[in-house]
Amino acid sequence: MKIAICPGSFDPVTLGHLDIISRASRLFDKVIVAVLCNTSKNPSFTVEERIGLLKEVTKDYANVEVDSFSGLLVDYAKEKGAVAVVKGLRAVSDFEYEFQMSMINKKLYPEVETVYLNTSQDYMYLSSSVVKQIASFGGDISNFVPASIHRKIVERLQKNS
Ligand code: ADP
Repeated sequence: MKIAICPGSFDPVTLGHLDIISRASRLFDKVIVAVLCNTSKNPSFTVEERIGLLKEVTKDYANVEVDSFSGLLVDYAKEKGAVAVVKGLRAVSDFEYEFQMSMINKKLYPEVETVYLNTSQDYMYLSSSVVKQIASFGGDISNFVPASIHRKIVERLQKNS
């Protein structure tokens, strides 16, 4: 069974993330979407909220699981028996950081491959921070987040501001 991990902050999950997750689910037997707990970014949504939103939007994908992890990604990958880490690439600016991370991970744990999926054209400009910025100014985020969680995200971000 080929297991892949899609790691990230998912603060909150966007259509760009979901696109990568659904494409990964067609390439691997099982995909574990793993919410990173020890991020230096100051998250707007708690880990539990992010997991809840991810579960809601992936509920129709039979081979997708949602989990969280802290510590090193390679340790988590080893624990789960994953063969790959799947990352989305939006722009050349993503590449430099991702390239460095994959080199380090390869040194730490050579058994796991990093697989990059190019963003779909529709989502190349999209990030969680863009969603939060637009929502905080009362803008329409319905083209950026899955419809099933749109209301939850708007309400939650309004509560925050
Ligand atoms: P962000 O960079 O928006 O904070 P995350 O850390 O949650 O995103 O990212 C998790 C994964 O999803 C990363 O591999 C990231 O490159 C990918 N990703 C995020 N947004 C997009 C997008 N719009 N298109 C493709 N991949 C994306």
